Amino acid sequence: MTSRAHGAPVLGKRISTNTQIIPRMVGRADLHTHTKYSGMSKLRFLRFPDAVSEPLEVVQSAERRGLDIVCITDHDTIKGAEKAAKENSTVEVVVGEEVSTSDGEIIGLFLTEAVPRDLTAEDTIDCIHSLGGVAIAPHPFSAHCNSVAGKLADLDLDGVELFNAFHRDGYANDIAQRKCESLPFAKTGGSDAHAPMMVGDGYTTFEGATGEELRRTILSRKTSFDGRYTTFRDFVWLTTLMTLNLQRTLLSSLMGAGMPDDSSCSREIFNARAVTRLVGLAGTMVFLMPPVTLAAGIIADKLHSSRSRLKWKELVEPCTAPY
Ligand SMILES: [Zn+2]
Repeated sequence: MTSRAHGAPVLGKRISTNTQIIPRMVGRADLHTHTKYSGMSKLRFLRFPDAVSEPLEVVQSAERRGLDIVCITDHDTIKGAEKAAKENSTVEVVVGEEVSTSDGEIIGLFLTEAVPRDLTAEDTIDCIHSLGGVAIAPHPFSAHCNSVAGKLADLDLDGVELFNAFHRDGYANDIAQRKCESLPFAKTGGSDAHAPMMVGDGYTTFEGATGEELRRTILSRKTSFDGRYTTFRDFVWLTTLMTLNLQRTLLSSLMGAGMPDDSSCSREIFNARAVTRLVGLAGTMVFLMPPVTLAAGIIADKLHSSRSRLKWKELVEPCTAPY
């Protein structure tokens, strides 16, 4: 396993957790992906679609990336995962959900129904287990997502996400890998893909190739993880797709057309006041001017990185400082 004994993680580098050649029977599963059913995200006063992928696009991307399994883990719903599971594919789809709890997000996998949001982390994990699912803590030390962080060791989790490809800063994953090394949870990886081209950037390796074998390997704590960080180009492309998606739905609503789909995102946009939709439309036009899109990408990336670095300095540096 690759380890960085001291100092800050190197940004944008491919991570590898396995120095030996992976045998052919080792399966690859992306445990953390989103579709357009993930709802809206909020950044201060701005609201925008959290993810842009159609369920079918996630499955097709997983096929192209050579994955055996893709887990669809939308925020507080299994609608997108259930649609994807009906697609004909060589890739097995696992129905999952990234559940909002009062203590931070928890991923449930192998679900047969949706887990209610806003319970405590303990009650959410009990609910996931009662449905026959496995519970995983995503991005546990993220500086910009709700995460369980300090509570981690006290929870009855099955796995913890030690590599999240969308946390491009490298710091959040480094904290997780250092803090969770000795905890009795399966070590997992996922892309946290919010657009099709990001699927498979991060993944979990396991013994076998089927969903049942993935579940067994998680429960026996024998998984590992690998992948690469989402590129800056894909990050900027994601923000462009989100804006185009928002613009299309705003235009449909203002022109009196029907709702483009049954997502909560479209419903929220259609229900907004006309003046809010007009201001939003003007905002998307400004954002889609190439210099603005690029500048926004650079600023957002730097902000994420500096917030994560602060957290890293607070949690890791005191433990690694030389005498
Ligand atoms: Zn996520």
